[in-house]
Amino acid sequence: MPTSPSAARAATRTLSVDDALERVLTRIAPLDAVEMPLLDALGAVFAEDAVADRDVPPFRNSAMDGYAVRADDVRDADARLTVIGAIAAGTVPKGRVSAGEAMRIMTGAPMPDGADTVVRVEDTDNGSDTVTITRATAAGTAVRQAGEDLRRGETILRRGTLLRPAEIGVLASIGRAKVRAIRRPNVAVLSTGDELVDVSETPGPGQIRDANRYSIAAAVRATGCAAFELGIARDEASDLRHALGNAAFGDLVVTSGGVSVGDHDHVKPVVDAMGSMDFWSIAIRPGRPLAFGEIRTKRGAVPIFGLPGNPVSSLLTFELFVRPALLKLAGHTRLHRPRVKAKLGDRIEKPTGLRMFARGIYDAEHGTVRSTGPQGSGILRSMSLANCLIDIPEAPPAAEPGETVTVILTDQPEDH
Ligand code: AMP
Ligand code: MG
Repeated sequence: MPTSPSAARAATRTLSVDDALERVLTRIAPLDAVEMPLLDALGAVFAEDAVADRDVPPFRNSAMDGYAVRADDVRDADARLTVIGAIAAGTVPKGRVSAGEAMRIMTGAPMPDGADTVVRVEDTDNGSDTVTITRATAAGTAVRQAGEDLRRGETILRRGTLLRPAEIGVLASIGRAKVRAIRRPNVAVLSTGDELVDVSETPGPGQIRDANRYSIAAAVRATGCAAFELGIARDEASDLRHALGNAAFGDLVVTSGGVSVGDHDHVKPVVDAMGSMDFWSIAIRPGRPLAFGEIRTKRGAVPIFGLPGNPVSSLLTFELFVRPALLKLAGHTRLHRPRVKAKLGDRIEKPTGLRMFARGIYDAEHGTVRSTGPQGSGILRSMSLANCLIDIPEAPPAAEPGETVTVILTDQPEDH
């Protein structure tokens, strides 16, 4: 395998987790903003300031089904009023309410002139020609004022806001069928390995099913990005080069496997030939080898992560390095999961000098955490049983029961 002296030096470089993450994030810049249909912007980062085009609600209206009245008439129970009409939502009132009068009114219907209070239907005899008020009602009850939600001309959402369902609703209420938001990253996912067969195939002798392409594509989607699969590349430089050629269509590439120093590990030299690749040995368990760099394409440089092949290592390094990178690419400023302290329930052994991310089960009620059991890098069940990662520093040879440890809440959204 041809290696330049600088590549050989890079191959021996050992970085801390924090240094590696910092290097990744300094090389990732947010994508451009584009105009998109409102609903497509769910989960995206808003790239403009939105100003209300009108008051919301645009007119005074009833918050209840009942009777629109004058407050003076309903200070006491047992008032009897003449019903002079009815107003449904979507219509406009005919006439005005004078002393001794009421109009039936439905929720969302405009308030008639003269009326300032709505008596709920439950507090009346529900009469048609006349109505008896059965409960005294305070002035202004059940009336929604024009502009009480949003005021015309007011900036109601600023650039940088994460668009959740509530923000999508706010934008709909000010008539924004299209909005400008940071484009959703499109991520190419590739597995490498002669031993891999697709999930739909039956593995032959020496073969295993490709778990990573699915777990990584799923992790990409769970991060709010789109994933497209480049398939499985065989352990041959030409096959890998061909598969990565299609990476030009993506905003970022994630491969798994083939980044160790085995005879059939081609990711590093192939990416070096197509762009540039840093290969880092990270002081981490699991997931020590990690490659990061870029592929040159006609559209510009596309960042690429070469994750280790072991299913736990690939998903864990995705969580620690790729996920924050994707969030940054998508314009987010909160890139990290919430962290809490918890009391450890069991002993977790680890190699001295490596930072360990044990898969754990966190009990928020008791403030405790325990490992999911066997922590081998091929034991994907350790990830699926987990709701957190237990972050154990490099130095000690183990974490002991009763110790206070840092827990990363991986089943929760970004830090708030
Ligand atoms: P590698 O990093 O290519 O040396 O692979 C390390 C280990 O992970 C080997 O046991 C591989 O068989 C396994 N492995 C690599 N890629 C995958 C994959 N896509 N799905 C499941 N296991 C994999
Ligand atoms: Mg391999």
